Amino acid sequence: MDRMVLVNARPSDIKDGAQPKLFSSSVPVAGPPSWAEAGAGRVVIVSNRVPASSEQGATAGGLAVALADATTKGAMWFGWSGYRAEETSAEANIVLSEAGVTYATIDIAERDYQRFYNGFANGALWPLLHSRTGLLRFNRPDYEAYRAVNRAFARALLPLLRPDDLVWIHDYQLMTMGEELRALGVENRIGFFLHVPFVPPSFLQVLPSADELIAALSACDVIGLQTSADADMFLQNVTESLGVHPQRSGRYAYHGREVAVVTTPIGIDAMKFARLAERAELAPETVRLHESLGGRKLVLGVDRLDYSKGLPLRFDAFGRLLYAYPQHRRVVNYLQIAARSRQEVGSYQSLRRELDRLAGDINGEFSDFDWVPLRYMTHPVNRNALAGFYRRAHIGLVTPLRDGMNLVAKEYIAAQDPEDPGVLVLSRFAGAADELTEALIVNPVDADEVAAAIHQGLVMSLEERRARHDALFRKVCHTTAWRFCETFLAHLRARP
Ligand code: UDP
Repeated sequence: MDRMVLVNARPSDIKDGAQPKLFSSSVPVAGPPSWAEAGAGRVVIVSNRVPASSEQGATAGGLAVALADATTKGAMWFGWSGYRAEETSAEANIVLSEAGVTYATIDIAERDYQRFYNGFANGALWPLLHSRTGLLRFNRPDYEAYRAVNRAFARALLPLLRPDDLVWIHDYQLMTMGEELRALGVENRIGFFLHVPFVPPSFLQVLPSADELIAALSACDVIGLQTSADADMFLQNVTESLGVHPQRSGRYAYHGREVAVVTTPIGIDAMKFARLAERAELAPETVRLHESLGGRKLVLGVDRLDYSKGLPLRFDAFGRLLYAYPQHRRVVNYLQIAARSRQEVGSYQSLRRELDRLAGDINGEFSDFDWVPLRYMTHPVNRNALAGFYRRAHIGLVTPLRDGMNLVAKEYIAAQDPEDPGVLVLSRFAGAADELTEALIVNPVDADEVAAAIHQGLVMSLEERRARHDALFRKVCHTTAWRFCETFLAHLRARP
């Protein structure tokens, strides 16, 4: 994320269609030509968190990372500032970055945040959309707060919008915002992209507000999902919730509007990440990791601490590797980075306790006086250091139970040394498995299968590792963050 240079403009500073006074000509501009410059309408990205005010990449999730790679001059990024205030802001704060991106943020009231974010978004939608209905906690005040925050986002964005702006809303926290914008009379083209998976009607209908959510999303012109399976499931819900039968092309008519459902998988800037990883080989953190391994092979997992990532089963799989393939004892280390997240939600606290216990069990069983097999840490590692860690790892272990895409899988591939690459062990339930078919694809529920795949990767010939890596690297270079944005925006621009 580039450095911010200007703060505290209010929408009232901005005249309709004109640049605000803060857009000083002395501000240096950088970056490749943007969609806005091509005269195609300004791109207005809307997401729950705007990374300008968050942890600057240290704990950024996949969404922030991918969009940061793709946001260029002329675009606006609108969302929550990261601050919880007494009241939710009625107007946005405007900041212009050196690279010419406008960041517009609002604060959210503490009481709204708890219900909107911890309550409905992460207590109901997140488990549901990851097929964990047993963890779903629904209560109506949380849902009302979710709707109210989506409304507040729409109201604060309204005065910033120009007639030809393309509005692109992101992710499960903002599923009703498109409908709120329409209620305010916004006729701009509105796109919505869901970064998490979707579920069939038999799951979605567990949520009392399922039909309202599908109707609210249908106020958008384009709805994007990560995989064609997710898009199919979304369309099944359109039929179930709205009684509408979409065309084979994924289009359907609702309330006088035609909605297009598209598949646009998200990616990373693979070449940039590859260069970062090459440089990071000599970074102090990577050198320390290397020295601490004492010549042992490294199995690496990098995740947010989240029940969708399948971490307890992954720990179990590593334990089974050591049990069933004793040749790896003392010569392999498993490092699991499980960056703390959503610590206010109960299910995350119990997951943490479970992992603490499992790590203790495995180390208690297999450790020797000079070797501890499993290293497990819950503080986040910055992306630069991660790049070096990936490059050092013989196995990238990515075994979520369900994941919209999983950018860690793509970063791991991009970071490898092509002459001596590591092996990706990837869950078939990550969106990335649709593309990355040359990885060792596993069912993460079967710990023995995962253990066998880790073993296969550890003993794989250099020739096979190179062949697999070569194919995978081509793919991550093809489905980049930039292409993701271009493809989605092309769909949106093509709407009448
Ligand atoms: N990440 C990070 N530091 C950490 C853990 C993760 O910077 O300690 C980054 C990681 O490099 C990746 C993103 O967070 O870019 C995680 O994205 P992913 O799609 O894998 O999962 P999500 O967190 O979005 O569910």
